[in-house]
Amino acid sequence: MAKTKQKKQHAPAKTPAGRFFQRLGVILGTLLLICVTTCAILACYGAIYVQNVIMPEVEKSSINMVTSETDLSSAIYYYDHSSGSYAAAQTLYASENRVWVSLEDIPQNLIDATVSIEDKRFWTHKGVDWRRTAAAVKYMFTGQRIQGGSTITQQLIKNLTGNDETTVRRKVLEIFEALEFDRNHTKEETIEWYLNAIYLGHGCYGVSTATEKYFGKQVSELTLAECASLISITNNPSKYDPYSQPDNNLQRRNLVLDLMCEQGYISESQRDSAKAEKLNCVYGSDTGNSETLGSDSEYYSWYTDAVIEQVIADLEDQYGYDETTATNLIYSGGLQIFSCLNPDVQKQVDAVYTDSANFAQYASRRGQALRSGITVVDNATGAVVALAGGAGEKVGNRIWNCATDTLRPPGSSIKPIGVYAPAIEEDLVLPSSAEDDTPFMENSDGTLWPVNSEGYYSGLTDVDHAVTESLNTVAVKVLDTLGLQNSYNYLTEKFGISTLVTNYETSTGAVKSDLNYAPLALGGLTKGISTLEMASAYAAFPRNGVYTHPYLYTVVTDSNGKVILSNGDYDVAFDDNKQATITGQASSKTILSERTTFYMNSMLQNVVTSGTGTSARLSGMTAAGKTGTTTDDYDRWFVGYTPYYTAAVWTGYDSQETINAAVNPACVLWQKVMSSVSQGAEDTGFQSTLQTVQCSYCSSSGKLATAACRAAGCAKTGTFVVGDEPTTYCDRHYYDSKGNMILNYSRTGAAAKARISGEVSFIRKKPVKKKEPPKKADTEKTDEETAETGEEATDHEEQTEEDSPKDDEQQDEKPKDETETGGDTPETEETE
Ligand SMILES: [Zn+2]
Repeated sequence: MAKTKQKKQHAPAKTPAGRFFQRLGVILGTLLLICVTTCAILACYGAIYVQNVIMPEVEKSSINMVTSETDLSSAIYYYDHSSGSYAAAQTLYASENRVWVSLEDIPQNLIDATVSIEDKRFWTHKGVDWRRTAAAVKYMFTGQRIQGGSTITQQLIKNLTGNDETTVRRKVLEIFEALEFDRNHTKEETIEWYLNAIYLGHGCYGVSTATEKYFGKQVSELTLAECASLISITNNPSKYDPYSQPDNNLQRRNLVLDLMCEQGYISESQRDSAKAEKLNCVYGSDTGNSETLGSDSEYYSWYTDAVIEQVIADLEDQYGYDETTATNLIYSGGLQIFSCLNPDVQKQVDAVYTDSANFAQYASRRGQALRSGITVVDNATGAVVALAGGAGEKVGNRIWNCATDTLRPPGSSIKPIGVYAPAIEEDLVLPSSAEDDTPFMENSDGTLWPVNSEGYYSGLTDVDHAVTESLNTVAVKVLDTLGLQNSYNYLTEKFGISTLVTNYETSTGAVKSDLNYAPLALGGLTKGISTLEMASAYAAFPRNGVYTHPYLYTVVTDSNGKVILSNGDYDVAFDDNKQATITGQASSKTILSERTTFYMNSMLQNVVTSGTGTSARLSGMTAAGKTGTTTDDYDRWFVGYTPYYTAAVWTGYDSQETINAAVNPACVLWQKVMSSVSQGAEDTGFQSTLQTVQCSYCSSSGKLATAACRAAGCAKTGTFVVGDEPTTYCDRHYYDSKGNMILNYSRTGAAAKARISGEVSFIRKKPVKKKEPPKKADTEKTDEETAETGEEATDHEEQTEEDSPKDDEQQDEKPKDETETGGDTPETEETE
């Protein structure tokens, strides 16, 4: 209101129209000035930006495009120790999933259909359609996503350079690249490339492969309707999939036909008769990723498959490519991939894994064949040198790989990496540390948790024994001491396990977390672990605590020999004969001290020599490792190592079913592979520079053993890193004044409710010696020092006899009638 008043006062002489035009002039003038200034500033910035940022990238991508043009096949190399040079393991021909078709074999209808739907001014623009670009910019300013406006040339560039970002910077770069490209290529070349490069779903790159796939014929034989249907797919291969979305495809096909008619490529009658045609797709047996269109009947090896997947993943990761583009580069980018394949080791793996006799006996009750995957890591480098993703003959390329793709709960094979190594590293336990093999807790239904696989509790024991016999109780208790988060961090951040979850919603809507006792101590993980990650995690033990992320190649170069991917600081140089020399090493980190790995190596060797992993024993080669078994024997694992190689083996079925096998099949497979791999190699044992000392300790207390400990069968000889050896004597075993051996240990809570087998808690002094025999047994009880000890003995009286063989062995030296195990059970029940 105030404003209008003012205006009226200051401009009384002018007419309303005059005032209006005067003010309009001022406003327009100001706006123009602002515009000009802004544009000038923007132009300056723009010029600098184009000069410094865009043009170098345009040049760079032109190089890439030239690369694709001149050499389409990539190759995977391995180091051949016998010749001392790199040899080709596999050539990846573009023809395997892309059959190049030249322009003269492409029907005019297909070209016209493409131009009609994708880029109607294609034949006249200079690589960029400014009208569409302007429209796209307008959309952008109105807050919509930057999309559309791309010419065929721009789409081709996106396809060749693989950059699929939708940033302004990317779009600007693409415009300059398109202009540059259009200057150097004819329209015919552009459309030919385009039609050979586009992704058309179901693993088909280019129109030739896709025509074969969807219509079972050659490109030149395509009808008008088929041409329109085919080109409809490329906009969104899953949305316009002729197999799964025939209606969508048909709808877009008809749109293409309308546009072709509108733009004068076909007559109305041609359009109508084409529209009247049904989709006549061929449902080939060849589906998914299998790339059998080439003449090669041999499939890639499991290793080659895994290398391809890793390079694709790394290209996506490091360059922001989408999967299609990264895949294109693999097959047609002329890449040189220097793999870590060790053909000798792979040969041994293949010998075991392709022999169906090694698997036939494990068919399930319902008739499922046993599945298995193995990953082998070289301890010297941390590189993955061999793997097998399935049993028997391989049936396709880039198929499901049980070594790298299968995720299954690792069971107890998680204990060394989730519990024991971290606990030793954190100085919480030693192999000699005493733990109580009793339940950790009581469930709400009164059951005790956890239970051991053997079904009984054995009371006080040392960590070494708990690892050897895979006691679940001790793993849970040590985990409790370590802390759940600490364990989780070790697994995810140090041992490189990438598949743990803390907030995972299952298909049924349940939310699961691996940050808990059963997953971290007993391996009941929500998603599971692959053998690939398991092998690399365990390899830290023989590698003195050095962890290296699993890698299958050292470097990948483009066709000019320029390194585009490197694992660590690997580099490659080529001599005049194009022979490669690779230098450098993978990026690694020390996650455990040598002290920790010394103890782990010692305990995991005991697993193989005398524990749950004896069927993995090798002749003439030191071996260490850990078994893993999941609920109802659905999955069985063995992860182990020699001084030279670490291998993780998983066995199980596609659909969960119990493995009925007396001996862990993973152990057996591991043993078969590793015994041949170890042939002729010197058994060096696990090397350590640490000074060690042996001493006799008590497995019930972890302290120096006394005569009482020896009497109780609890004295063990252990090797300690100097400084770690116990210095005080066991206070749990002692002789009372009557000369009876007493175990001074009490239990509360869930532990007190468990029945314990094999624990020697009381040994009556031998009656016939210097002293007179005690008159009454009753007096012994009154001499006991604590009430707790008395209760202990009472508890044990109720126990049934369930001796473990180990304890029997330990008691062999003593007269049987003097030992009271598992409570005061009658001596007559003792058996040999
Ligand atoms: Zn003792």
